[in-house]
Amino acid sequence: MSDDTLLDRALTRLDEAASHLKIDADVIEKLKYPRETTKMRLMIRMDDGSRKSFLAWRCRYDDTRGPTKGGIRFHPDSSIEEVETLAFWMTFKCAVMNLPYGGGKGAVRVDPRTLSKSELERLSRAYMQAFARVVGPDRDIPAPDVYTNAMIMGWMADEYSQIVGQLSPAVITGKPIALGGSLGRNDATARGGYYLVRHLATELGLGAGMRVAIQGFGNAGQYYAQLAGADGHKVVAVSDSAGAIHRADGLDVTRLIAGKAAGRQVSELAAELGAEVIGAEALIGVDCDLLVPAALEDMITVDNAPSIKAKVLLELANGPVTPDADKLLEARGVTVLPDILANAGGVTVSYFEWVQNRQGFYWDVEEIHARLLRIMEREGRAVWGIAKDRNTTMRTAAYVHALSRLATAIEAHGTQPFFTS
Ligand code: NAD
Repeated sequence: MSDDTLLDRALTRLDEAASHLKIDADVIEKLKYPRETTKMRLMIRMDDGSRKSFLAWRCRYDDTRGPTKGGIRFHPDSSIEEVETLAFWMTFKCAVMNLPYGGGKGAVRVDPRTLSKSELERLSRAYMQAFARVVGPDRDIPAPDVYTNAMIMGWMADEYSQIVGQLSPAVITGKPIALGGSLGRNDATARGGYYLVRHLATELGLGAGMRVAIQGFGNAGQYYAQLAGADGHKVVAVSDSAGAIHRADGLDVTRLIAGKAAGRQVSELAAELGAEVIGAEALIGVDCDLLVPAALEDMITVDNAPSIKAKVLLELANGPVTPDADKLLEARGVTVLPDILANAGGVTVSYFEWVQNRQGFYWDVEEIHARLLRIMEREGRAVWGIAKDRNTTMRTAAYVHALSRLATAIEAHGTQPFFTS
């Protein structure tokens, strides 16, 4: 891999999209840098009485189209660069889906598995104390991401409400239902990807009983397995951070999910599911029709991409394929359904949650699903159309689609020709 940073690599997508459009230089100047990144050190009291500090960030990448929106990640490898890159992706994701948001992201450098429940609550509340000036229902609206969940969002919403002195559930999404969360948020990321694949199945050459391999078996991966399994598709391999398992005839998804809920790794479930343990890397090369990266960024590289046998990749994770690997997959005729479209179901239902919080009127789950389906199919079809018209990849088409919306908004403030004429 080159010395380019994650953000440098992400920005190559912007240049590529711009080459397809006639847009003013102002647009690129505005979008190639994060607008505001705040770094803080969170200090919390540990259970043993000691004090410990954790690095934390919140980035508001661009807010031209609305308040910034994006998750908070708790991960030992989190960095400012990762946060800014994820915020850049969120800017484009919200534009692809035509949500009235810009892009943001946050993180704490911590392994949450090493914290007690009380320490986790204190850390979550400390995050909100530190960033209360940055976030807000009309400014920047966080949500869950890797290793954060609904309960953490509930603590953060509560902390913010105490700081501003009024109940403010719309400051954060992905909350527990009882605290103003939306029905349908839990499985929204997977469901959005599932609707997308189902809608474009014929064009993608996928049919009934397709074989699916899923990398990363957390929120996104498990719900995708459940939806695909319920539709009669075969989940033939899954992995988590500790290993991978494979069963050509299909895995029992219900038992897998129950095993994970009981705190076991997928490799520990192999024997009882009649599956074989394979290396984490081997999952990528498993014989299947659809490969679903649902773990972390940069998992599919030029080194392992040649082994891929799937004809379609559904990027439920953010940034799982490096740009070089992307080129290789394109040359091999593998269709990649890109993250900014494929996993946008999560932010779309987060948007529904924010709308419901603000209007104080809550929708039933059928309404949530119907609205998500409509947006996924509309934007998925639009991106497919751009890819065909311009003879380009779905990734570039998604960036073109998003960039044209961002450009329209940025140009509406006036550009060089306006100010010099
Ligand atoms: P999660 O924490 O629930 O799950 C992550 C999973 O990835 C875990 O099973 C973990 O064991 C596994 N994993 C970690 N390292 C791995 C490795 N090297 N190999 C294989 N598996 C590995 O997180 P999540 O919410 O499901 O998020 C997963 C991805 O989806 C992230 O890229 C996230 O940004 C993206 N995403 C999530 C949402 C959402 O609503 N949850 C929305 C959009 C995008």
